[in-house]
Amino acid sequence: MKKTKLVVGNWKMNGLLDDSKQRISQTLSFIKKHKKEMLDNVDVIICPPATLLSTVHEMTSKHLLFLGGQDCHTNMAGAFTGDISAEMLKEHGCSSVIVGHSERRFYHNESDELIAKKGEAVHKAGMTAIICVGETAKERAAGLAKKVVKAQIMNSMPNDTLYADNTVIAYEPIWAIGSGQTATQANIEEMHNFIREVLEKKYPALAETQILYGGSVQGTNAAQIFKYQNVGGVLVGGASLKPPEFCKIIEAALKA
Ligand code: PEP
Repeated sequence: MKKTKLVVGNWKMNGLLDDSKQRISQTLSFIKKHKKEMLDNVDVIICPPATLLSTVHEMTSKHLLFLGGQDCHTNMAGAFTGDISAEMLKEHGCSSVIVGHSERRFYHNESDELIAKKGEAVHKAGMTAIICVGETAKERAAGLAKKVVKAQIMNSMPNDTLYADNTVIAYEPIWAIGSGQTATQANIEEMHNFIREVLEKKYPALAETQILYGGSVQGTNAAQIFKYQNVGGVLVGGASLKPPEFCKIIEAALKA
């Protein structure tokens, strides 16, 4: 597993200019203070709404705070009203893009095949694809969690994954997202070890890639989660909107 821990904050559809600037400057003051420890140990990526990218980029470009997109189109340009391309995200300072978040899969009916194409667009634009997978509560109760996650991985991987290592997997059990119900150590380790096995067998280029956990990660449970096997980072929703909480998560990554 790569040494660098990843902390990714997904702001979803939250943030207007003023509150976002405040949020970023609070997070930045923590990051500036811990600059030396962060180098080579922890990467922090914020994924704000697209409307905030240029402002956030201006504030963060000289610091160890990276930018990510929350989604992108499969095409680089064209008649796709309301959409945003991977190249546009790259131009606004992004180094990675989340694709296949469960909210995109659910509210926008995104299929694994579409997600694979989005991942390809992310790679083509020279960025890292953060591909989200995870089972529903019903699937877990039916004993299908691993089967569902394996199928999502196999079918939503960009087609250049066999030789490119610019993909990260985020395991986010849907029942744990925004619910306050974090997955247990057993749940997380079992799935992360399983995902690692799948990657080693099917995608050797990703054998070492970070596998992120997402689902109600908070300042209070992050340190514990970082101790679990094969947890290379976290994808954080709600807590990424609260700088003191988010900084506690970064601090936990630094100590991991
Ligand atoms: C998410 O939406 O990716 C997520 C993990 O949200 P939360 O941290 O709020 O559970």
